[in-house]
Amino acid sequence: MGSEVFARGRLGGKVCIVTGAAGGIGLETCILFAREGARVLMADISQSALDKSSARLRELVPHAEKIDTIICDVSKEDQVEAMVARVDSWGGVDVMYNNAGIMHADDADAIDTPDRIWDLTQAINVKGVWYGSKHAILSLRKFNKKKGSIINTASVVALVGSATPQLAYTASKGAVLALTRELAICHAREGYRFNALCPAPLNTPLLQDWLGDDEVKRARRTVHFPTGRFGEAIEQAQAVLFLASDESSFVNGTDFVVDGGMTRCYITPE
Ligand code: NAD
Repeated sequence: MGSEVFARGRLGGKVCIVTGAAGGIGLETCILFAREGARVLMADISQSALDKSSARLRELVPHAEKIDTIICDVSKEDQVEAMVARVDSWGGVDVMYNNAGIMHADDADAIDTPDRIWDLTQAINVKGVWYGSKHAILSLRKFNKKKGSIINTASVVALVGSATPQLAYTASKGAVLALTRELAICHAREGYRFNALCPAPLNTPLLQDWLGDDEVKRARRTVHFPTGRFGEAIEQAQAVLFLASDESSFVNGTDFVVDGGMTRCYITPE
């Protein structure tokens, strides 16, 4: 990596797609990507959320190389294909961040999780990651690229069991880890890296809207943090930036855990 690359930012010249771009981790990642010189396509299922978050991004990074938005339901392959095709005129994708995911309020344990919720969760959280990975690979090949970075958002629940079950979600994130690992091995000699991000519970709408003011529910989670707090979306975004950049050129197939030590902890400090 020459000094010229750093002068243009850690992602200078790279074309990046972020799904779930209007959400907590997604928007923070888009902000960092844009600040580091990337051209960013923000994709989300919600037009209103996308309008709001892209306006915020333009405000925070007025000199961004290029920012665009696209509506995409990641569980629909034709929409994912169209999303990736959108950056053809930018020279094709270099970094794909498959981040969109849901944790449904009706997701529960083995007995009470409705079939419909199981299927919806797998469609978005697993198929969405598969489609995003598939079309990123096809684009990288089409543009004859010798390197590419695909980052898929899993979760710590893919690594440790929880007695506050959301079985469909947990199963979906386990699948993300497994498929990311296999993709990493299959495509390593093409120069395409795949890594999974494993965030701990965060201060983002996905979890916080669900927890609401329920202090008991909150305490059930915070007690397991050595740091005594939930993570912040920006702390995940910093890890994604590293995995997206060439600084992580020899990092492949990892379960990249960003959890404040939660999954390494037996008893937390008093
Ligand atoms: P968030 O709810 O703030 O953002 C998720 C975004 O995804 C939203 O903007 C939403 O509109 C979008 N989305 C939902 N369904 C979609 C679909 N079908 N197609 C495209 N976009 C869709 O959530 P977040 O906390 O930023 O979570 C991002 C990722 O991190 C998710 O995969 C989530 O499972 C994972 N994660 C979150 C936490 C946490 O505590 N927040 C912990 C571990 C993992």
